[in-house]
Amino acid sequence: MTPAEIIDRLAALREADLPTHGGRTLAYVYDSGVAEADELGRHALAMYGGTNGLDPTAFPSLLAMENDLVAFARGVLHGGPDVVGSATSGGTESIILAVKAARDAMPEVSDPVMIVPTTIHAAFDKAAHYLRVATVKVDVDPVTFRADPAAMAAAMDDHRERVVLVAASAPSYAHGVVDPIEQLAAATSSRGLRLHVDACIGGWVLPWVEDAPAWDFRVPGVTSISADLHKYAYTPKGVSLLLHAHPDGRRTQFFASADWPGYTMLNSTVQSTKSGGPLAAAWAVVQYFGVEGYARLVRTTMGGTRALVDGVEGLEHLHVVVPPDSSLVAVGTDGACDVFTLGDLMLERGWFVQPQMGFRGGPATLHLSVSAATAASVPALLDALRESVIEAVAAGPIVVDANLRAAAESIDPAALDDATFDGLLQVAGLAGEGGVVAVPERMAPVNALLDVAPPALREALLVAFLDRLTRP
Ligand SMILES: *Cc1c(COP(=O)(O)O)cnc(C)c1O
Repeated sequence: MTPAEIIDRLAALREADLPTHGGRTLAYVYDSGVAEADELGRHALAMYGGTNGLDPTAFPSLLAMENDLVAFARGVLHGGPDVVGSATSGGTESIILAVKAARDAMPEVSDPVMIVPTTIHAAFDKAAHYLRVATVKVDVDPVTFRADPAAMAAAMDDHRERVVLVAASAPSYAHGVVDPIEQLAAATSSRGLRLHVDACIGGWVLPWVEDAPAWDFRVPGVTSISADLHKYAYTPKGVSLLLHAHPDGRRTQFFASADWPGYTMLNSTVQSTKSGGPLAAAWAVVQYFGVEGYARLVRTTMGGTRALVDGVEGLEHLHVVVPPDSSLVAVGTDGACDVFTLGDLMLERGWFVQPQMGFRGGPATLHLSVSAATAASVPALLDALRESVIEAVAAGPIVVDANLRAAAESIDPAALDDATFDGLLQVAGLAGEGGVVAVPERMAPVNALLDVAPPALREALLVAFLDRLTRP
């Protein structure tokens, strides 16, 4: 292929993707609506794509930009001069490193646990899985969906000798509410425990939200914070920050190895060789917006979020699960229609909203992350929701076929082999040519089936699905 043909092919491939710009994709992507900032980010990404963050002395440009970003974040999050940090590849890496730093700071604990509310992001489960730290999940308040400080404190005491970390969200992804960080910090400080605040999605919004509950380094006892730049800092994908209140808290995050014949490996993050592109792009976009620019974007975003919340409350059959503290809205139905059908109907109208499966007895919901670029089109979004609800109510809530449900319930997730999975694909109408999976136009029947599957089975089914998707 010629270069021009290759670019054409890349453009053609992109057409199947969700749009990253325009404010109509309400998960996965974040759009400032400022074309100049996007252009700047892409330019910096290309300029630095070939640089390597492996060795900060070999590419001092990357070290300077990382320190600049950490200093900016420290200011915005009200940290003192002791606050230090690292740029990582994303929220999950920041969280894995926060857990690793906490675990390795207590090497005497042979069976470490972390205490988290049930609403904590699944990245903590991933960190637990990778690092062999158990999670103790504590129920949240059933009405406010916020962590229950007394129950969290009781869990800290129940596992006294084993706790290496306590974590909470600002805000939680699924409901957009901030956990009571001050009360949690009082409980962790008096016990000498680390408290990580997961502000991956709120770290670049809450600093500019008036009347936001206290959650950042102003709260004594907060020992680390994760804040993603590739979400509400509106930078290209691939950058998050992990900040520690004090360098002592970070030391065990680092890794060095001199035990091989090559260069001495010295890493601050999980990645070793890492592109400087995302870091440079984040540096450029953060310079461009600055504190004032983000204040403006957050005003727009929060105005849009409030309009969306009010609008949803005015729609028949829909409600907002809990008034959010940030720019994330969870929407539920009264049972006259189901959220999975609504999601499909919204997609037909050019809007992507994200289904969230039922959890611990609570019903499935829709997740909407509002970007600055979404704010102006909230009336159009509400129109699309209204039309989708009418159509979904007319169709009626989706009913999972009893045989399929029985088949799903009889499967032992630990014993899900290829043949069983093939059978399920057939029954679910997902079997494509030659043993591969075919992703259907309408996701509602699949989502509804997954929703009734016990979580362990849902995980096993999705892993099998991913395995089939990723066979060239
Ligand atoms: C997005 C998010 C994460 C994970 O971040 P990735 O960048 O997707 O790895 C963790 N916590 C919260 C609250 C998030 O919103």
